[in-house]
Amino acid sequence: MEAQKTATFLSLSENVGQFSLLDKTFLIPEMNRIGAHLLAGAFRSFGVNALVMGTYEGLDLGKEFTSGKECFPCQVTTGDILLFLKKEKESLGDDFNPENYIFFMPESEGPCRFGMYNKYQRIVLDSFPEFRKVKIGSLTSEDSYALEGMIEKERARDFRKAAYFSVVIADILDRLLWRIRPYERKQGATDGFIERSMMTMADSFESYGAKKDFDRILGKLEEIVEEGKALIDPDIPPKPLIGIVGEIYLRTHVHSNQDVIRVLERYGAEVVNASIAEWVDYTTYDKVRAAKAGLRLNLKQFRFNKVKSYLKQVLSYGGDLLYQHIRLDQAYKRVKPLLDLAGDHRVAHLEKTLIKHDLYSFELGTEACLSIAGIMEFMHEGYNGAVNVYPFTCMPSTITSSIMRPIMNHERIPFLDAPYDGTCQPGREAAIRTFMYQAYQHYKRHGRKKH
Ligand code: SF4
Repeated sequence: MEAQKTATFLSLSENVGQFSLLDKTFLIPEMNRIGAHLLAGAFRSFGVNALVMGTYEGLDLGKEFTSGKECFPCQVTTGDILLFLKKEKESLGDDFNPENYIFFMPESEGPCRFGMYNKYQRIVLDSFPEFRKVKIGSLTSEDSYALEGMIEKERARDFRKAAYFSVVIADILDRLLWRIRPYERKQGATDGFIERSMMTMADSFESYGAKKDFDRILGKLEEIVEEGKALIDPDIPPKPLIGIVGEIYLRTHVHSNQDVIRVLERYGAEVVNASIAEWVDYTTYDKVRAAKAGLRLNLKQFRFNKVKSYLKQVLSYGGDLLYQHIRLDQAYKRVKPLLDLAGDHRVAHLEKTLIKHDLYSFELGTEACLSIAGIMEFMHEGYNGAVNVYPFTCMPSTITSSIMRPIMNHERIPFLDAPYDGTCQPGREAAIRTFMYQAYQHYKRHGRKKH
């Protein structure tokens, strides 16, 4: 028994972490579909055999190997990896070698359970003798998702740049989808167009990501935006604008959220979901913040040896954040003159919003920082309603709801909490329909924000 416990703990440290991806198949779970495929393209450009796994079909397996107390994204991704490996083993037979695979499951520091998914999934994989040697490749928000050990050291920084850019471009493609679909001339045309565009951009990242030829990638994106614009019927009048915030996996994984954006659109909305780049920027911003705090404290205490190390961190993370801002601005500047897509928030601005209204503190961390401030921004910008999408029992999203619901009620702006756990809520569609009725009334009274 003792030996078994020791083996379990050893496995958590030895088989979860940063491993070289050379000659391995790197399995990327599909969270945001476009983001996963563009990121895989960026990895392939650096010689990594990256593959986006199918998703949600393994949910029964995910539920079978979890207790029900885990967060829903943990159940979904557990099912994804188990089903993938089972199918792979079935199709390859004796040629199946678990050492050929690395499953990608990042983590984040902080008080909630995302930091534990990959540990839990390690225990599950270890319970199958044939999958024990499948490693879990993890990046952490603790070092702002640095890639040390996974990609050759001298190329890691370049990869990080290409990966970040893939996140920004995926956000823009998603925004293009939400901008066109409610106004499409021909029903169903947008979905096919975006699927094709996603593949084009994934190929583009594969060809130009490692060369950091971002200009070529943006050129392709411009062509796509121009093509997408032509799908819009200019005679369809503007619709109520709805902003979505919430837990990153649920709000971007259309299977888990039962395609909430499409349902909102069916009842007359145009929707903008919070971006993924915002989360990446937040993790970098938080490192700069923490380094600045350490610097101030050690300066006050005259601990100059530590001052030097904190100063280095401020400069290093600050440089990363500046780089991210430059790339983000570059991409949006190229597409916005072509089509009025929604922009992105600066995290520093979101923190100022929280401080100004005394709503929450970045000291407490979690996505609540972004969601609460994000809803405040929607409110100030003239959105007609906001939806908080999250896994049932998610801690940061419950905090968001408890803080923002009374404010939205007071401001008479429609607000909807939409928790999901994989079951069908019989009243959900009625709640969305009612919410959209309220949003339409708001739109009639106040008009709406232009992008
Ligand atoms: S953010 Fe929510 S869903 Fe994600 S780990 Fe934390 S509590 Fe769970």
